[in-house]
Amino acid sequence: MDYFLYKGDELYAEDVCVSKIAEEYGTPCYIYSQQTLERHWQAVEGVFAKHPHRICYAVKANGNLALLKILAGLGASFDIVSGGELARVMAAGADPQKVVFSGVGKTTAEIKQALSVGIGVFNVESLPEIHRINIIAENLGKIASVAVRINPDINANTHPYISTGLSSNKFGIDKNQVLSVYKTIETLPALKAVGIACHIGSQILELTPFEEALSCVLQLVSALKDEGVLLQHVDVGGGLGVCYDAETPPSLEDYAATLLNTLHKQAPYPLELWLEPGRVIVANAAILVAKVEYLKETAHKTFAILDAGMTDLVRPALYHAHHNIIAVKKLKQKEKMMDLVGPVCESSDFLGKSRLLAILPGDYIAVRSVGAYGFSMSSQYNARPRCAEILVHKDKTQSIRRRETIADLLSHEQKQPFVKMQALGNDFVLLDLDDNKEMWSSDKIKQLSHRQEGIGYDQLLTLKRKEGNQFYYRIYNADGGEVEQCGNGARAVALYLALKNKIDSTLELQLLTCNRVMTVKTIGPKRFLVNMGPPDFSPAAIPLQMPLQDQYEIRVDNQIQCFAALSMGNPHAVLRVESIENASVQSIGKAVCLHPCFPRQSNVGFMQIIDRHRLALRVYERAVGETLACGSGACAAAVIALREGDCDSPVTVQLTGGELIIHWQGENTPVWMEGEAECVYEGWV
Ligand SMILES: *Cc1c(COP(=O)(O)O)cnc(C)c1O
Repeated sequence: MDYFLYKGDELYAEDVCVSKIAEEYGTPCYIYSQQTLERHWQAVEGVFAKHPHRICYAVKANGNLALLKILAGLGASFDIVSGGELARVMAAGADPQKVVFSGVGKTTAEIKQALSVGIGVFNVESLPEIHRINIIAENLGKIASVAVRINPDINANTHPYISTGLSSNKFGIDKNQVLSVYKTIETLPALKAVGIACHIGSQILELTPFEEALSCVLQLVSALKDEGVLLQHVDVGGGLGVCYDAETPPSLEDYAATLLNTLHKQAPYPLELWLEPGRVIVANAAILVAKVEYLKETAHKTFAILDAGMTDLVRPALYHAHHNIIAVKKLKQKEKMMDLVGPVCESSDFLGKSRLLAILPGDYIAVRSVGAYGFSMSSQYNARPRCAEILVHKDKTQSIRRRETIADLLSHEQKQPFVKMQALGNDFVLLDLDDNKEMWSSDKIKQLSHRQEGIGYDQLLTLKRKEGNQFYYRIYNADGGEVEQCGNGARAVALYLALKNKIDSTLELQLLTCNRVMTVKTIGPKRFLVNMGPPDFSPAAIPLQMPLQDQYEIRVDNQIQCFAALSMGNPHAVLRVESIENASVQSIGKAVCLHPCFPRQSNVGFMQIIDRHRLALRVYERAVGETLACGSGACAAAVIALREGDCDSPVTVQLTGGELIIHWQGENTPVWMEGEAECVYEGWV
C-alpha cells in the first residue's frame, strides 16, 4: 500500500498533484512519499514487536539524508557497507552505536573511521579482515564488537546478481570454518564476538531460504555454545522481496512468524533478533517521473523516448527488473503497445518493454516502486547530471537533493586558475570563478588553505562577475571563516582585473562582499583608491560597552591606557605613542584587544605622529597578533589624527609592510585608501 494514487485523471503523491511537482522541479525526478516510508517502517517494526529485536535499515537501498533522518527519528538502526554510508548516517544524526558495518572489502581508513566514531558492530567476512580490525582497534585503544557473517550455502532463488548466500559467492565465511574463526577471535585482544550474521540475497520471494539460513546459523550458535562461545544476537540480514509486478512475496506477518518460530525452536539460549531490511522499507515509497520527449514509430514497434534512462534507474537494464509504468495524467485516447526507453547510447537503456499506454510527447509518466536501488544506483554515464529528489509529506513538497548541474559534472576535472597577489606584505590567493557556475563551499576553501595539500595564504579572495564592472567578492581567512571587508585584498583584486583586461579601468570597480559594496578607482598602473566607507564612532557600531567619548580610558596591568575607538567595518582602538619602536604592541595590544569593554574584541593600533602628513603605525590584530599591514587599521589611525587636528589630508601611513595614503574630508564622508598591489605568481589547483 502506498500514497501514489489517482484523483480523477491525475496522479497524486499524497495530497500533491504529480504534474505540478514535475513542472516545478523539472524531470526526471524521484518523488518520495513520507507517509509511505513511515508506514512501511512501522509495519516491519510491528511484526517483530513481541521479541527483542533491532531493525538495521540497509542504507545502500537509499541513502538520501532526508530519508535517513526520518528513519533515525523513528528509532531505526542502520546497516552500512562503506565509509561514505557511515558519513551519511552520521550526517543524518544517527546514533553510531546503532550502526552495523557490513561488506567484504572494508579498507583500513574505513575501519579507523568506524572505530573513531564508535559504531556498534562490524559484520566480518574473512580472517584477514578480522586481523586488520584487531590491529587497528588495538592501536586506537578500543575494543571492536564483531559478528561473523557466515555463508550458509543456500540458494535464495533470486536473480544471480543479487544472490549472496551461495558458497560460490564472495560473501561470508564458509560455515565449516566458523568455529575456528570464533576461536581465533577469542585470542585477539581488541575484538569481542557479540553476534553471528548472514544475508543470503535480495528480492527473495519464498520463506524457505530464510528459514534454512536461520536454522544453519542457529546450529552454529549451538556448536559455539558447546565450545564455550556465547553470543547476544543473530542477524538474519535483509532480502525480503516486494511486489513489482505479479510477484507474491510472503507477507511481513508470515516472514516474522517463520523467523521467530525457528528462533524459538532452535536457539540454544535467548538471542536478540537483528534484521537488515532495505528494499521492503523504501521500494514502494517513490516514483520516478519522466517526460516523453518523442514517440518514434519503427517497422517493428513504437518507442516512447523519455528524458530518464538507465542512468536514473538501472534495475531494468541490470537485472531485467520489471517496474510498473503509468501515465501521470490519464488521457481518453486509445492505449498503444510501446517500449519505454531512455536517451542513453546503449540498447539495454530501457525502463519498460511492451507496455500499453496512452501518452503523447510532452506528457509525464511515472515508474513505480523505485525507492530502493533507484537513485542510489544512478550514474552520470553519457555525462548526464543526476536527477532531483523531492519529498512529499501530505500537501508539502521539499527538494531533498537538487538536480546536479553541468558544473557539478566538470568540477572534479577542471583545474581552477589562481593568482597569488601581494599588497603591503599580506599574501592573497585569488580565484576567478567567472567560468564556473558555483561559488566555492567553505569546506573546499579550508582544503585549499592547507599548507601541504593546498596552496596556503593569509586570505583567499573569490571573484565572480555580476555584470560589467560589478563583481561578487568574498574574503576568507585561512580557517575558512568569512571576513566582511579587506582594503588590501580589494587592491589586489583591482590589479588582477586590470592586468587581465577584465574591466574598464576608467570606471569605478564595484565589489559586493557579504554585507557591503566596496568601490575601487584606478589611479595608476598598479595604484588604486579604495572606498572604505565612512568611519563610525558610535559605541554600538564598534561595539564598545562605554558611553561615547573622544578618548576612552581603561586600566590594564595597573596602568591607565588612553585610546580613541571607531569602526572601519572592523573595530579599532587607536593609542598614541611617543616612539613606535618602543611600543609594547604584544602585551598592551593583547590586553586592550581582549578587554571586556570590547565584546567582540578589537584591533589595536599604536600610532606615532611624524608630521602633518605622515604617521607611523603598528597594529595588533584580533585573533592574529602583530601584523605587517592592516588597511582598515591605517584608515582608523589617520582618521583619528585628522579628527584631532594633528594632520591634514592626505596622510601617509607607514606600516611595517609598506605605505598607504589615506584621504578623508571629515565627518560622514568616506575614507579613501590609496596604495599598490603586486602579482607574484600564477598557477592552477
Ligand atoms: C543489501 C544488503 C541488505 C539489504 O537487502 P534488501 O534486499 O534491500 O533488504 C542487508 N544486508 C546486507 C549485508 C546487504 O548487503
